Amino acid sequence: MRSCMRYENKNGKDRKNRPYLGIYFKCCSVYQRIYLNQKGTAFVGWCPRCLGKVEIKVDPGGTSDKFFTAI
Ligand SMILES: [Zn+2]
Repeated sequence: MRSCMRYENKNGKDRKNRPYLGIYFKCCSVYQRIYLNQKGTAFVGWCPRCLGKVEIKVDPGGTSDKFFTAI
């Protein structure tokens, strides 16, 4: 949560073009967006309630699925 705020303040413009995924955190029944990491290798995010981490590696071949569910 804190790092997300910091990111928004620092790179407000860039954030709009940053790819993200819609994630449903099963653990807490919360829907949240997670953004691509700096290396562009995976989408990383945290559950806003329990702070459980979710990481989805980017498929080089591309994926059509826009939504994932955190385990
Ligand atoms: Zn959770």
